[in-house]
Amino acid sequence: MNNKECVFCKIARGEIPVEKIYENDNFLSFPDANPVVEGHSLVIPKKHFKTLLDLSNTLGAELLDCLKKTSVILLDKYKAEGFNVVSNNFSSAGQAVHHVHFHIIPRREKDGKILSLHDLKDSEREMWFLIMSLRGF
Ligand code: AMP
Ligand code: ZN
Repeated sequence: MNNKECVFCKIARGEIPVEKIYENDNFLSFPDANPVVEGHSLVIPKKHFKTLLDLSNTLGAELLDCLKKTSVILLDKYKAEGFNVVSNNFSSAGQAVHHVHFHIIPRREKDGKILSLHDLKDSEREMWFLIMSLRGF
């Protein structure tokens, strides 16, 4: 399955050049074009699946392989201490590119990036939701 106009299908077909970080038979990883931190990268399946729900369970091991290998490469390259793996599924959850993908976000202690709503105080959480709604999420 492949989608002619899909930006990630174009990347998978080599029509949009990217600096590949890692690939196996069914998945590949490359830097996000709008990184939220240095090293922010994406893992995508080479075939077009809209959301995580469309991915076959049989691809699970290869997905995990690509997520883990990419994360290890990023941790080493960017001297990061940790990383977040995030997947937005469906528009209401902030999915802008409707070809399932996984963000890998290298993290350092006190890097100031908020990725866990549980870490926020009530006032900060309200501010966060306000910012996200202004951004159209
Ligand atoms: P999401 O909101 O989870 O759908 O995020 C889509 C992500 O894809 C965003 O972080 C974009 O910066 C990223 N993106 C879109 N087009 C490209 C591209 N051509 N190369 C790399 N990253 C891209
Ligand atoms: Zn696609």
